[in-house]
Amino acid sequence: MAEAQVVITQRGAERLFAGHLWVYRSDIRGTDASPGDAVRVCDERGRFLGRAFYSERSQISVRLITRDDVPMDRNFFAARIRAAAAFRERVVEDTQVCRLVYGEADQFPSLIVDRYADYLVIQTLSQATERRKTEIVEILEEIFSPRGIVERNDPKVRLLEGLDQKVSLLAGEVPPEVIALENGVRFHFDLFKGQKTGGFLDQRENRRAAAEYASGEVLDCFTYNGGFALTLAGKCQHVEAIDLSPTAVEAGRRNQALNQITNVAFREANAFDVLKQCDEQGRRFDMILLDPPAFAKNRASVPAARRGYKEINLRSLKLLRPGGYLVTCSCSHHIPEHLFLEIITEAANDARRIAAVVERRTQSRDHPILLTVPETHYLKCFIIKVL
Ligand code: SAH
Repeated sequence: MAEAQVVITQRGAERLFAGHLWVYRSDIRGTDASPGDAVRVCDERGRFLGRAFYSERSQISVRLITRDDVPMDRNFFAARIRAAAAFRERVVEDTQVCRLVYGEADQFPSLIVDRYADYLVIQTLSQATERRKTEIVEILEEIFSPRGIVERNDPKVRLLEGLDQKVSLLAGEVPPEVIALENGVRFHFDLFKGQKTGGFLDQRENRRAAAEYASGEVLDCFTYNGGFALTLAGKCQHVEAIDLSPTAVEAGRRNQALNQITNVAFREANAFDVLKQCDEQGRRFDMILLDPPAFAKNRASVPAARRGYKEINLRSLKLLRPGGYLVTCSCSHHIPEHLFLEIITEAANDARRIAAVVERRTQSRDHPILLTVPETHYLKCFIIKVL
């Protein structure tokens, strides 16, 4: 059978030459491909441009996999996963939890694979990776011999591909809770119901970095299961860890008990209110951590998000003792780093604080940023010292 082919416009071809990996529906001239095929991509003169995953539903019709003229067989995909894993061997340390495959950034578009100790969680976010799910599971079993594999295919983007949202066990067995070590701290992870694929793996290096500066009294405002709070508790007198969600607070408390840590107080509350109350009560801290959910989910919400980020950063900067540290994050892709820094600068000025950036950080290295796909850079994290 002849290989399916997608013919793209000159504009589409130019995008690929400029390093982009995606070609949109409006730049497709014609195709004989079926949903989810791995196709040959060429321009209108028939020139070969590479091989890609094809989606007949999404606005992103073509996701480039390679510019080389090589067959898209099982060995090819297994080699991609092996290469991604080999990179983690190099950069991931002191953890049983990490991202093994980060889609486009690992040249395996629309596939996510996360490791939680002996278990794997995958997301197949396009028609092409969905169609290859069985093969991907086989490859993962071959390479990693996991005890079980879960699909966390509940992200909404699946709907754009005409795929349903579902969570299920794909191989082996997975307990309702997996215990795994990160930076020397043990956490319970619920791979079926926890946030994202079970936890926020992208903050691992930032938690460790924050711990270097931690001391005295600390406030962790969006703690989830205690990621930052428990990592730095050993260096502090007392940590107050806040989250709006009762399940998160409960998970934090259980993780604290699991590690026999006794100086973290988990509390269900709204961080906006807590910061305001602390100010009214004249309380002071040596470190404040801000890791809120994405305030800007789309372009239209950027102005409101900007006000939200400004408010929590301004209040936090006021509450810090001289010599204290603010660890402040934004995971909104729509708030680029320079804008986030501008917001923090305004907040510092309004709070009448002189502050210095001591670390300018991003997501952990197992979530590499692809130069030509800005969407792969979403997490900003600044460690700021109040002088
Ligand atoms: N810092 C965590 C991840 C935080 S995710 C880690 O290192 O793993 C964002 C968290 O903020 C979620 O758990 C969510 O429940 C919580 N949240 C959302 N809005 C909030 C608010 N207004 N006040 C406090 N917590 C909030």
